[in-house]
Amino acid sequence: MGTKGIAIVDMDVKKLIGVLNKAFSDEWLAYYQYWIGAKVVKGPMKEAVIAELIQHSADELRHADMLAMRIIQLGGTPVTEPKEWYKLTNCGYDAPADPFVKAILAQNIKGEQCAIMTYKKLLNYTLNKDPVTYNVVLQILQDEVEHEEDLQAEMEDLQTLLKSAKGR
Ligand code: MG
Ligand code: FE
Ligand code: FE
Repeated sequence: MGTKGIAIVDMDVKKLIGVLNKAFSDEWLAYYQYWIGAKVVKGPMKEAVIAELIQHSADELRHADMLAMRIIQLGGTPVTEPKEWYKLTNCGYDAPADPFVKAILAQNIKGEQCAIMTYKKLLNYTLNKDPVTYNVVLQILQDEVEHEEDLQAEMEDLQTLLKSAKGR
């Protein structure tokens, strides 16, 4: 940890580390939800959806990495016990119990919408107080906004496909 780097943070650093560890837990759960979703998903447009899910899982793991680095810079320790992820998570974990592509897309859209709200709150929380964390959070938020749009576009295509199949 860098002492001056911590000294310029105009907020309760311990509390900030706690909040970052909650987001860190979200990212691991989101990573796994995408990763396992890509394995079990079934139905029309499967290939396109699998490609998106795999890409997003890699992004979520990268977000976990970014948060871990920032937590360490602040003198904290990223959550070391996976059991803690469930206790700390903001957005939870939705097991893909129904492997139908529409159900998996819906679950992940819900997850992204929660992530967007979580990171928006974190942006407000760090605004003018910790520019370094603010920047990390902003980068992650940009990805989550892209993720939501990607999944909603896939959902739209799927609905169109399902409708045209019915009308035939
Ligand atoms: Mg994408
Ligand atoms: Fe993420
Ligand atoms: Fe995401």
